Amino acid sequence: MRGRSYKTEAVVLRSLRFSEADRILHLYTLERGRVGAIAKGIRKTKSRFGARLEPLSHVELMLHEGSGELQTVTGVDLIHSHRVSREDPYRLNVGLIGLEAMLRLFGEPEANERAFTALTRFLDALDELPDGERTRPAEDALVLSFQLKLLWLSGYLPHLTSCIECGATDDLVGFSARAGGAVCRLHRAGSIGLTSEGMAGIEALLSTPLADAHAAGLGDRDRREALAVITTSYEEHGGFRMRTVSA
Ligand SMILES: [Zn+2]
Repeated sequence: MRGRSYKTEAVVLRSLRFSEADRILHLYTLERGRVGAIAKGIRKTKSRFGARLEPLSHVELMLHEGSGELQTVTGVDLIHSHRVSREDPYRLNVGLIGLEAMLRLFGEPEANERAFTALTRFLDALDELPDGERTRPAEDALVLSFQLKLLWLSGYLPHLTSCIECGATDDLVGFSARAGGAVCRLHRAGSIGLTSEGMAGIEALLSTPLADAHAAGLGDRDRREALAVITTSYEEHGGFRMRTVSA
């Protein structure tokens, strides 16, 4: 084969059927950031790739880069299957939200080691998610914390400690994605309501390691407010709405 081959850690973000036996993979790789690849023969019973290339899989891949847009998977070693998460509907839903956020925010073929590390830590924490704590998947503290960290790494996350319009540090009552931050009562027009507990909750989710997101102990309202900040930031800065999050 002409072209060149390289080895990289990767997470499978999405897997689409391409033909009878082949699949197209959307990957987030440590070496190259976002990469599209084709895995040939994956649907055959005796495929050497087997079930190792499912969404959530953390793998080490040999990729061959030819002249086409898609690279070719020529080897797979499993690092973490995350089967525990794939086989539990709640964990899977939370996981798919995280994968979509990654697809939307990190679409460039450009390495970002911190984003890759955040992604693998998110998946590790997902496997370890406490059994008792089940909310609406979109309001799960782990996936909220992951998305806030991704927004921060993308440079989108506004600061929340003073009014973006006047600098006031007290009487903050809202969040304006358009202005890019928290707003005081005077400058609240067009903002979404945000309580001081909600702002403190967002700060906690940002500063806590992903594995401790649930231990931060956010209440239902705080988590709903964090989700609203994430959703409006996506709409305003990224121009998208998440498909995995229903209204
Ligand atoms: Zn103000």
